[in-house]
Amino acid sequence: MQPKNFHSVHQSLLLWYEKNGRHDLPWRNASDVYHVYLSEVMLQQTQVRRVLEEYYFPFLERFPTLEVLASAPLEDVFALWSGLGYYRRAKNLYESAKLCGGVLPCDVAQLLRLRGVGRYTAHAVCSFGYGDAVGVVDTNIARVLRRYFGLKEAKEAQLWEAAELFLNRTSPTHHNLSLMDLGSLVCLPKAPLCHACPLETSCRAVKEIEAYTQTQKKNYSEKNLFFGMCVDGTKVAMCHSDGGMYKDMLTLPPLQERACREEALVGSFRHSVTKYRLHIYLYRVAIHELGEVVWVDASDFASLGVSSMTKKALRLYADTMKKEKRCTKHF
Ligand code: SF4
Repeated sequence: MQPKNFHSVHQSLLLWYEKNGRHDLPWRNASDVYHVYLSEVMLQQTQVRRVLEEYYFPFLERFPTLEVLASAPLEDVFALWSGLGYYRRAKNLYESAKLCGGVLPCDVAQLLRLRGVGRYTAHAVCSFGYGDAVGVVDTNIARVLRRYFGLKEAKEAQLWEAAELFLNRTSPTHHNLSLMDLGSLVCLPKAPLCHACPLETSCRAVKEIEAYTQTQKKNYSEKNLFFGMCVDGTKVAMCHSDGGMYKDMLTLPPLQERACREEALVGSFRHSVTKYRLHIYLYRVAIHELGEVVWVDASDFASLGVSSMTKKALRLYADTMKKEKRCTKHF
């Protein structure tokens, strides 16, 4: 791919963005770069609508600055993240807030030193938060670049190269945002709306669009997980997970499959998270069958940072108790 003059294409893109861009997203109008950073972390693997409707504002209300976030207990951060999934993100964000002493670095190299900040997030914060002239490549932009430049088989590094080459250095932020919106609103994965695209006349993929719309089948891993349910009055035995995707969060105590007694089975359910299709089995256990536990009052679950999987398990237990006509009012 050779450098060329993109002036008129840049103008068409910006015009399209002015008319069609998602200008009302609050992080696009934020004066505090922390808001941009938070939105980028929350939006990893999560839809805009969910972040906007349920998480972004309550999180900022509780942690209005990086400084406040850095000085809060981790449990409070998990509590505000509860249900959003990918809890490693919350912990990384929290550790980054501590690492940078409440002031977010303002260049890519320094941002990359923070926890969980990869090339995309570092560049997005610099472009959307500081207005720097740096290219950005997320899934949507990658698709637009791949198609526009005819880079069917391009590796990630080539797409970053293309993003830099294509960058509008006069309006870099709006340029990147326009590509992002174009990817999510027009250059759709299965059926791109080329007739409505400002890049149509010079896009390499238009004439052979079928070659760019074949989707790859996702590979999922099946996994069985076993948890113990031990209740004492209104309290439930929980433990802090010491690894995996729920690291440091409160979960029900995990069990070894061989230690599970069939007659103690409460029930099972399916749960999907990242690339895993989990089959969760819940067993009644006595306290002496468990290691170190933390007793948590059932009335506190609503405000605690527990995962959707744990919430489902608690619900399963409550429903089973109801069927067996045992007391469940606490769950
Ligand atoms: S013309 Fe079509 S394929 Fe090319 S960038 Fe636009 S929507 Fe995507």
